[in-house]
Amino acid sequence: MTDLSERIGERFEKMSRDEIAEFQSEALQTSVAQAAKSPWFAAKFKEMGLEPGDIKSRDDVVKLPFTTKNDLRLSYPAQMLAVDPTEVIRMHTSSGTTGKPTAIFHTRQDVSNWAELMARSLYIAGARPNDVFQNMSGYGLFTGGLGLHYGAERLGMWVIPAGPGNTARQITLIRDFHVTVVHATPSYAMHVAERMIAEGDDPKSLGIKIAALGAEPYTEEMRFKLQDLYGFKAMNSYGLSEMNGPGVAFECPYQNGMHLWEDSYIVEIINPQTLRPVPEGEIGELVLTTLRRAAMPIMRYRTRDLTRLITEKCPCGRQHVRIARFVGRSDDMLIIRGVNVFPSQIEEVLMRHKWLGGNYIIILTKAAALDQMTIKVEISRDGFDGTVETLRKLRGDLQRQLKEQIGFTANVEVVEPGSLPASEGKAKRVIDERTAG
Ligand code: ADP
Ligand code: ZN
Repeated sequence: MTDLSERIGERFEKMSRDEIAEFQSEALQTSVAQAAKSPWFAAKFKEMGLEPGDIKSRDDVVKLPFTTKNDLRLSYPAQMLAVDPTEVIRMHTSSGTTGKPTAIFHTRQDVSNWAELMARSLYIAGARPNDVFQNMSGYGLFTGGLGLHYGAERLGMWVIPAGPGNTARQITLIRDFHVTVVHATPSYAMHVAERMIAEGDDPKSLGIKIAALGAEPYTEEMRFKLQDLYGFKAMNSYGLSEMNGPGVAFECPYQNGMHLWEDSYIVEIINPQTLRPVPEGEIGELVLTTLRRAAMPIMRYRTRDLTRLITEKCPCGRQHVRIARFVGRSDDMLIIRGVNVFPSQIEEVLMRHKWLGGNYIIILTKAAALDQMTIKVEISRDGFDGTVETLRKLRGDLQRQLKEQIGFTANVEVVEPGSLPASEGKAKRVIDERTAG
């Protein structure tokens, strides 16, 4: 490991569109040949009558089979392993937000490539070796801990592996060691700020410059609220265990979509019903194929995350394609009285109000066979003047704006600050108490 540009893989970061295409065509052939060494893909390819040699360029990716979360579960524990088990040095599992976890394996080179992607991501977000970095993510099987940790070390920052929770200690560490860059879920970052305000403290006094925020969906309105509270730049960070973890896509200082590292992944956006590509720029399901992973190559992984491609040139000069802020996961979509609603649509309305805090939950129930939605949202300690009059007006405004946004009337309960369950990792925003039938 020598100079910075090598540590962060600058030659990949600066690739032109032509170089990316050429690299992808080569790398896809290698990745498919590698995948064929796993029992899972060997069987899949055979079933389809596909020889690894049939894949000659990146456009041939469409000839490959899709891989779903369920395939990963079926292949558990190690049907997708493509190397001798002695070559594996690490495994992770997905955090299991949506069911039984799945296991992902890495060789030494895989771990190193991941660290490079992560270092590159932090670099484009503005972090530099002289920054002090605090990682507030869970260590262990969850990839947000070790993933960010190895990347931040590779970049050369001073790393504080704080882990999640213990808010008072987080604040002390940030202060005492002059932390300039943090990584957290947006919901936890919000919780820390609100705790500080409750104690008469000001999050701005921490002097954090950059926050890498991800692992869960959040809106542009939530970003603005956090930036306002802390005075930092909040950079969107995307990844998933199946594709290593964080370091798949990251924002540059223009904060207009996340550059997705195309030297390591081939990107497709498909219509989840027809499985056909959507017209360029339209929203669909993100599908990713690993290009540089030896232990566990995955072909056309259906992430279930909904986004769109941004192909216009980014003012930062990097040519890796950008993906827009996620609408949510396809399985986050709520069907309420036959209407499709994403929690992000509700968050957008709530976060626009200066009298409201950053914590909310959505509760779904059934009354007389009709779906009911109740939104509980905390009032802000700051903006609210404490009068019943204001509260009444606020509820009325929220109900009207939500109706405009989602098309039906929701019950809104404005509650005391700190009264809803606080999030340390991924926030659980929806409680569905409707029973089937
Ligand atoms: P699980 O699928 O069990 O939650 P992961 O820890 O691998 O396991 O989480 C990855 C998922 O987290 C992604 O597929 C996506 O749904 C969500 N996610 C990660 N980063 C972001 C982000 N910046 N915006 C929206 N969603 C995100
Ligand atoms: Zn950019």
